[in-house]
Amino acid sequence: MINSSEGHATVGVEKFLGTEIRLPTAPAIAARILDAVRDDGDSYRALAAVIATDPALAARLLSVANSSLYAVPSQITRIEQAIALLGLNLVKNIALSFAVVRGLETNGQFGFDFTRFLKRAVTGAVAAEMIANQIGHSNEDLFACALLQDVGMLVFALVAPEDYARVLEEEASSPEPLCVLEARRFGCDHQELGAEILRRWGLPESLAEPIRHHHRLAPGPDSRQVAINLLYLADRVASLYHGFHSAERAMQIKDFLAEHYGQTQQSSDELIDAVASRAQEMLAVYEIETGTIKPYSQLLQEANDELGRLNLSYEQLVMELKQAQARTEQLAAELGEANSRLRELVSRDGLTGLYNHRHFQEMLRKEIGEASRYARPLTLILFDVDFFKKVNDGHGHPAGDTVLKRIARYVAETVRSSDLVARYGGEEFAIILPETDARDAVVLAERIRRGIETLEVDVGNHSPPLRVTVSLGLSGLKPGASEHAQDEMLEAADKALYAAKGGGRNRLVVAR
Ligand code: GH3
Ligand code: MG
Ligand code: MG
Repeated sequence: MINSSEGHATVGVEKFLGTEIRLPTAPAIAARILDAVRDDGDSYRALAAVIATDPALAARLLSVANSSLYAVPSQITRIEQAIALLGLNLVKNIALSFAVVRGLETNGQFGFDFTRFLKRAVTGAVAAEMIANQIGHSNEDLFACALLQDVGMLVFALVAPEDYARVLEEEASSPEPLCVLEARRFGCDHQELGAEILRRWGLPESLAEPIRHHHRLAPGPDSRQVAINLLYLADRVASLYHGFHSAERAMQIKDFLAEHYGQTQQSSDELIDAVASRAQEMLAVYEIETGTIKPYSQLLQEANDELGRLNLSYEQLVMELKQAQARTEQLAAELGEANSRLRELVSRDGLTGLYNHRHFQEMLRKEIGEASRYARPLTLILFDVDFFKKVNDGHGHPAGDTVLKRIARYVAETVRSSDLVARYGGEEFAIILPETDARDAVVLAERIRRGIETLEVDVGNHSPPLRVTVSLGLSGLKPGASEHAQDEMLEAADKALYAAKGGGRNRLVVAR
């Protein structure tokens, strides 16, 4: 249930979650934390009691309370003290954000780097608090909000691990922002998904709403503008310390702070630097091995020193740099081409140019995944040349090859561009028809059968053109497909094909 009067889930999220996606359930401790502060009675004691039931959570909370981020005057040893000094809402939010992140931990499956996620999240949370301090904005939701701003990514990684791994792979080489790539694949991005899961778990709107807009791609509600800006900046700072293009990020942060909050370059520089040590301190709470996070100014200084050591004139340096860049670009282009040629090569069949068996199996798996996720139809056709041995025996193996190539070309030209034709084995072929139900597939299969029957294949050798026929088997994806769907589909199509052979060949049989 949506329990808010403010934002609403976008159509894209509703659609994504409306398919067979199973969202993770809220961690029990999060619900208990919310209950504790909802009671109008003694929220203070209730919250402390709930947190105390989870020693790991309590320990983390005390570490944060004692960190220099909140600069409390004396050592805090009990949760009640933390609440008294930091306030009920702040403690509640921090506890909630820890519980949520822990509840969504992904264990690095399918290459999702959870540790890197945590480093970014914690650095972002620290940055958000420190920037808020600097510009004199006080907001008890900020730490939690910044820590949770990318939970949508965790949810994607949990519910659609393989697809999301591909999106992240794409991001590495694409100029488009992550949100755009996510929306293209899933219909919604991690901002919307993150905000929605927090809402469904009953977390306050003051956390969900800024998260929904934290990349500032579209204007958010005015009342949340400062929070949204702070999340955006926090994300930039996290990228600066845990990503690429640091120099560019630093400029973006400083420009933004100057334009919106009248900060000088110098104060921004100092602020960005200070985040490094505070973030390091906070990450120790998570027992994450960070090495040292060097302050940005130190990184710059080291780069400058390195330049000095090279002892080149400026012009020389520019020349060398330009040449190196040109070489790199050239190499990158060649590498890119070689890679895509290689990718093509390993997925193609040498004789017919169709996709090979391996690629076919991969694509069938992928299409079954998509079709069952979005409850879309999917059909598979297998077909095999009739009495092909006779062609080889009567006209020679090269003539047989020519026939196979001609059939391949005909079928590839006949199907839609969204269909996938593969050489399944010797003289056996397969067609995957996404978004196609059995009835439409039968029409296509019949067209192919008749088309091949009338093909006249010129095989040279001064012999008259050859004519062959094919037998076809067709099977559709059953709704509510199991993990064996792929084997089941193949087996059903294969049986149908066998029945077509037994029934006299040159015919289509549809699996029941
Ligand atoms: P059926 O109607 O029962 O399918 O009879 P068939 O003769 O087509 O079936 P069978 O499986 O007995 O023979 C298939 C032949 O296809 C045997 C094999 O040598 C030949 N073949 C497989 N791959 C190639 C190829 O790449 N080129 C050529 N020329 N022949 C091939
Ligand atoms: Mg055959
Ligand atoms: Mg055969």
